[in-house]
Amino acid sequence: MKNRTLLMIPGPIEFEPAVLAAMGAPTSSHVAVDFIETFGQALERLRSVFLCEDGQPFVLAGSGTLAMDAVGANLVETGDRVLVVNTGYFGDRYAALLSRYGAQVTQISAPIGARPSLDEIDDALKKAAYKLVTVTHVDTSTGVITDVQGIANLAAHYGALSVVDGVCSIAGEALHMSDWGIDVALTASQKAIGVPPGLALFVVSPKAMKVFAERKTPVANYYADWNSWLPVMRAYEARQPSYFATPAVNLIEALNVSLRQILDEGMPARFERHRLLSAACKAGAAALGLKQIALKPEWAANTMTALRYPEGISGADFLPRVARAGAYLAGGLHPAIKNEYFRIGHMGAAKIGDVLTTIGAVEVALAQCDYRFELGAGVAAAQAVVL
Ligand SMILES: *Cc1c(COP(=O)(O)O)cnc(C)c1O
Repeated sequence: MKNRTLLMIPGPIEFEPAVLAAMGAPTSSHVAVDFIETFGQALERLRSVFLCEDGQPFVLAGSGTLAMDAVGANLVETGDRVLVVNTGYFGDRYAALLSRYGAQVTQISAPIGARPSLDEIDDALKKAAYKLVTVTHVDTSTGVITDVQGIANLAAHYGALSVVDGVCSIAGEALHMSDWGIDVALTASQKAIGVPPGLALFVVSPKAMKVFAERKTPVANYYADWNSWLPVMRAYEARQPSYFATPAVNLIEALNVSLRQILDEGMPARFERHRLLSAACKAGAAALGLKQIALKPEWAANTMTALRYPEGISGADFLPRVARAGAYLAGGLHPAIKNEYFRIGHMGAAKIGDVLTTIGAVEVALAQCDYRFELGAGVAAAQAVVL
């Protein structure tokens, strides 16, 4: 028996064997010729995955929160106004983080499962001059996807920089950084990028780099200061050795393999595959009578699904059973409804078979919890989407 349960949470996820093999190769010097080539390629490929050929890519050892933090540290000066488009837990995090750097934060929120409309965001932008607008592409606590193209458009119209927290979206959801005029797009290795946890990844537009260059005050974060990292990123792309703080050598080897796989699949095909996995998962859940947190189908992400437990079933009953039946799923994250729902991740290397296994495991666990439904209905509905 394979001693392996599918990891179907919204990050970390199931990783490709070639990516894991790259991680396990002997660690080389961070200034060895071969590693310089790998890092240089990874930076170039990052531009292609973010669909931003003129952006400045950064790869730092850290998690997604470090990528968020780097934006706060480098693009905010005390007193700057920031508008946070908040669709859940990670919007709250961004507001708190930006306040630490002295930002005057205004938040625009919506009820749980909904998202602020473009009209509401337009109204907010009319009322004051903001330096930054941040938006979470997919809020992992609700599974709600935002219209980042529309929001980036509005931000540009009002002269603000747009920052997209794409930790649960980039390389899964369609995101065209240049075409949509996004100024910073950020993510972490362990989600749809498909590399074990440990890398903060982001691309900065030329416009945002210019705003950074015109700062009046020093960056109040030593490790995340772009003044220290910019020469390093440029050096590796020029295939030159450089050092500020030791890069995560093995993770960057793995990143380069994963980015190559992503580009081999092709971005349009990859976005389409995520739409299919998501449609199958959501059809399966609906056939079992499970309700999504996202209040409208067009507000629901393609990289994950957030589902309410049926009446009378708790996470403590359900989650261990679903894991024994074959898939690790995640509990709730949004503080207001934490115990009322669970989350399925279907991104990165996930295949349709993984989604079918997951829906099958959900059915086994629900049946063991004495929930009444037609056994097999969820799997059949998911299969019908594929067919
Ligand atoms: C996971 C996640 C983060 C935080 O990333 P870490 O790697 O856990 O620091 C931020 N934003 C979103 C949308 C996420 O899904």
